[in-house]
Amino acid sequence: MDEKTRTNLRRQFATHLERCGKRHTPERFFILDTALEIRGRFTADDLLRRAADGTMQVSRATVFNTLPLLLDSGVLRRSSNHRKVDYEVVSTPAKAEPRQNLVCTICGSIHRRKASSLRDWVSSQSYGDFAPGESIEIFVYGECGRCRRTRRRLSQEKNRKIT
Ligand SMILES: [Zn+2]
Repeated sequence: MDEKTRTNLRRQFATHLERCGKRHTPERFFILDTALEIRGRFTADDLLRRAADGTMQVSRATVFNTLPLLLDSGVLRRSSNHRKVDYEVVSTPAKAEPRQNLVCTICGSIHRRKASSLRDWVSSQSYGDFAPGESIEIFVYGECGRCRRTRRRLSQEKNRKIT
């Protein structure tokens, strides 16, 4: 990551902390810098391990409390695929493709798909003095194909036993 992107992301995070009335603690920025060092996707535990190897002592709680701040600030995004939740740095927000996340409420699996038409919908809405960024995600909750098939099979077996 180049220095300019890093500076922008640090500024973005600082602005977000101010907006929600949180302090610019060295620990929070250390965790941000640790996340920015990681290439590609990483889990909360990966971040924790990296932070533990770093120059500053941060507790597990601090790492886990800082993650949502990094997400809300738009520096990180969640990227989920099948039961595993991980994170990635949003270094190219302009190219971010709107996504739909299909969340199964039974097994917890998440299928992510592109949904470019969401951008039109988002820009057709009004937000008062809020300025929407590039990142757009919707979460649709329901039942995945596998769970539906399992449920049907179980109910057929049950019916067969009854008759
Ligand atoms: Zn399922």
